[in-house]
Amino acid sequence: MRSNIKKLNLQNSYLQLPNCFYEKINPSSVENPKLVYFNKKLAKHLNLDFLNDSKSLVTNYFSGNILPNNSQPIAQAYAGHQFGHFTMLGDGRAILLGENQDSCNKLYDIQLKGAGKTSFSRAGDGRATLSSMLREYLISESMYNLKISTTRSLAVIDSGEKVYRETINNGGILTRIASSHIRVGTFEYAKHFCSKDDFKKFTNYVIKRHYPIIANHESPYLELLRLVMIKQINLVIDWIRVGFIHGVMNTDNMTISGETIDYGPCAFLNTYDPKTVYSSIDHHGRYAFENQHKIAYWNLSVFAGTILQFIDRDENKAIDFAQNILDQFPVIYTKKWYEMMFKKLGISNPIEKDKVLISDLLEMMELKKADYTNTFAAITMNIYPKNSLFKSHEFESWKNKWKERVKYNENSYSIMKESNPIYIPRNHLVESALESFINGDKEEFNKLLEAMSNTYNYDVKHDNLQSVPKDFDKSYKTYCGT
Ligand code: AMP
Ligand code: MG
Repeated sequence: MRSNIKKLNLQNSYLQLPNCFYEKINPSSVENPKLVYFNKKLAKHLNLDFLNDSKSLVTNYFSGNILPNNSQPIAQAYAGHQFGHFTMLGDGRAILLGENQDSCNKLYDIQLKGAGKTSFSRAGDGRATLSSMLREYLISESMYNLKISTTRSLAVIDSGEKVYRETINNGGILTRIASSHIRVGTFEYAKHFCSKDDFKKFTNYVIKRHYPIIANHESPYLELLRLVMIKQINLVIDWIRVGFIHGVMNTDNMTISGETIDYGPCAFLNTYDPKTVYSSIDHHGRYAFENQHKIAYWNLSVFAGTILQFIDRDENKAIDFAQNILDQFPVIYTKKWYEMMFKKLGISNPIEKDKVLISDLLEMMELKKADYTNTFAAITMNIYPKNSLFKSHEFESWKNKWKERVKYNENSYSIMKESNPIYIPRNHLVESALESFINGDKEEFNKLLEAMSNTYNYDVKHDNLQSVPKDFDKSYKTYCGT
């Protein structure tokens, strides 16, 4: 069925690309959909506020039962390196309805995740569980409120159908908003499966859509590599700032826009241990907290490899040019990491010897198994609960040095408040809220969602959001593709 409502008039710029990049496919309808979440604030920002009019219309749009005007839905083709191994992938359960412009005239994708099978589904059912879509809604919106670049969540539908995994689950459909869904993996697909001509058209499309400023640059493809690299560095720095562990940084889960995508097995660090891994399938810690920048570099090297042919006709020269850009990664990352850490400690105009304050603190935090978020929040407030870190002589001596250092920095407190969230979506709270929701009680989920709109508000008291049950992390595991 197609809607007669004129207002949601979608564009489809991706359809201008050669047809190797997508499959035209409609969402599979569901029989008894219910709207469980609709992000009205986001709808307003996206110029979709007319959707407030009718709940049944919203439900039908976001379950895939009614297509908006001009929508020509597609599944996008992509490949990717999963845990280092190259595989053909593609949207196996996500369908792009089309694109629209937000209130700042920026183009964004409207995609339904869990919308049915496509030619990329392989053995999958094209569906998602309600619980995993609610998880993505909660964490992606928390990330947005933590001021981190991310895809966003507009709506969650309970599909009214059952989804079979290890257990029988309610099905869910998430409406995902992204500045595009183009990934490093889309470039890998283009290099391996499309003609050089088609790949070049695609690359030029990406430049026009995401980096128009370099369209007339003398070496636009090299510049593309540099800009994507900077975006990824900024993103990982922000993840480290709040203790976010993505969990599955495969090349198909790294966007060219620099937005966090794919909230499958992600989680947040509690106790500061740089080696932390929660994902049940990440046996060797490839995507551990401390490895995220190294993996970003690895993924960018794969990206560079795909566009070498456009950088220079002479492959050796192209490799040299690309390598020169990639060689800047560790230098820029380290510089930005220090800048971020200095902000967490409220130190402006840092000098070389201030670096010891950072390394000493992190070393003590690791040794004393201190909570990452709570430690920085306590230093920000200058209120120290009695735990083994704050009781120690080493910390007392560190604190004196730090206080001496920031004493003349008038704006320390405000810098720290902006860099150190007081609340994050704690893993145990997320899991408990999801479980209650699935058992029919929405209250816990609603409260957590509401609290996550205040992640930096030191004036709101939510003591229960800060404590973590003893040893919870030891057995906590996250899962992909549910
Ligand atoms: P992800 O783990 O979500 O990054 O997905 C990896 C690949 O598996 C992508 O090609 C997905 O489209 C595909 N996939 C994941 N779950 C399903 C499913 N239930 N049905 C079909 N394809 C799926
Ligand atoms: Mg993915």
